[in-house]
Amino acid sequence: MSSSDNATRRAGAILTVDLGAIAANWRGLRDAGRAASRPVDCAAVLKADAYGCGATVVGPRLAAEGCRQFFVAHLEEGIALREAMPEHPIYVLNGLLAGTEADFVEHDLTPVLNHLGQLNVWRAAAQRYNRPLDAVIHVDTGMHRLGFDAEEAQVLINERGRLRGLRLALLMSHLVASEEPNNAVNGEQLSRFRNFVRAMPGAPTSLANSSGIFLGPDYHFDLLRPGAALYGINPLPGRDNPMLPVVTLQARILQTRRIDAFQTVGYGGAWRSARPSRVATIALGYGDGYFRVLINRTYVHLAGHRAPVIGRISMDLVTIDVTEVPEALCETGAVVEVLGPHMTPDDLADHARTNGYEVMTALGRRYARVYVDPPEPEPDPEPGPEIAP
Ligand SMILES: *Cc1c(COP(=O)(O)O)cnc(C)c1O
Repeated sequence: MSSSDNATRRAGAILTVDLGAIAANWRGLRDAGRAASRPVDCAAVLKADAYGCGATVVGPRLAAEGCRQFFVAHLEEGIALREAMPEHPIYVLNGLLAGTEADFVEHDLTPVLNHLGQLNVWRAAAQRYNRPLDAVIHVDTGMHRLGFDAEEAQVLINERGRLRGLRLALLMSHLVASEEPNNAVNGEQLSRFRNFVRAMPGAPTSLANSSGIFLGPDYHFDLLRPGAALYGINPLPGRDNPMLPVVTLQARILQTRRIDAFQTVGYGGAWRSARPSRVATIALGYGDGYFRVLINRTYVHLAGHRAPVIGRISMDLVTIDVTEVPEALCETGAVVEVLGPHMTPDDLADHARTNGYEVMTALGRRYARVYVDPPEPEPDPEPGPEIAP
């Protein structure tokens, strides 16, 4: 038995990640870029451990698929990814903190420079190392979070010598509300970004995150930067999800009991049975990213039978009402679908009043992780995701 079999056998909950689906999602997004009149490349955003899916597994899989550029948020994420992927450019979105230049150089990571101060630190490093260093420039077009503000961007345009010693790998900006196609801020950011890149000719350019890709070819520039959509999160809220689902989360039943009517379940007695009931306790909790706010608000599924989550979410346990579920499905050790065909991360997010991003990035560290990479389905009659922005 392999160590991964052992991990699965011992685990209270099992997270299955479909690498083939991530690869198919990446290809679909890349092909959406190819619809433009000029070549558009597609990167992959692997921050927060590839949205909970495992950056050091997802990165090499996408590299094998043809993905050539990768983004992370933190320097440490970049260092870990570099071990798994010796060759491809890795951009660190959170930028460069003074004192970490040597770490960037040693691990061949490219900082996303967010203001003039960071640019100066990186230029000085290039001088010390006496060789050109790659840099990405992030210009703020309306997010007001990270990036060169308008004034600093103008300094860069007027004084190109400030980039001497650096090789501009990318000019980028980030959209505020790309999932709202009718929001006027998209067009405003587009025109600000266009003005900036026109004034800084020669470097590749990037604006679109997952939802931004669906705003159409005007937003594609040279490089797409999807994260969420790769992992199956719907880039088109309120419309049909064009992406393939990626994660399944199963938790084991630890115990099932019968209770009388008018009994409470769990901490604080927050749920009370209206009738004689059967209650199953499953092996995950808020310590695994199953939010406490989900109390009395969501469901799990047993072979397609819906079972309401009842009572307070504990650190390590969740209780479910299985009164309506056949008893044979509720024995100790049976697995319950927490995320899967009946409950996507976006569905659970709706119940938790959050978004699929938070559900995914909260996925716990105690799950046994199983990676599957099924072969491509036959092209007909079931094609991959059709993505026409
Ligand atoms: C997270 C992030 C992305 C990816 O965004 P998604 O909405 O997950 O596709 C792209 N660019 C930047 C700067 C980001 O921070």
